[in-house]
Amino acid sequence: MAGKEGRALRIKCISCRFAKVDKAASEKNWTAYECGNSESEYYRALLNVTPNGDKNTRISWSGCAYGERKNRSL
Ligand code: SF4
Repeated sequence: MAGKEGRALRIKCISCRFAKVDKAASEKNWTAYECGNSESEYYRALLNVTPNGDKNTRISWSGCAYGERKNRSL
């Protein structure tokens, strides 16, 4: 069944086609990822930083209602 937002399923940022490398925020030993979806309230937010400011290797955010799954077959 569809959720309250009228969308079937929320996907995680790690599976979202809008997640992309943020070269400006990246450091020598750490790659930053940001949300590239201007529709999302998380637009330009870093996706692999915890609320405490810790830097994660992998994208850890749980996603938003505007995420779209990457199409791996193309
Ligand atoms: S915040 Fe939403 S739109 Fe942005 S990368 Fe994550 S799931 Fe995709």
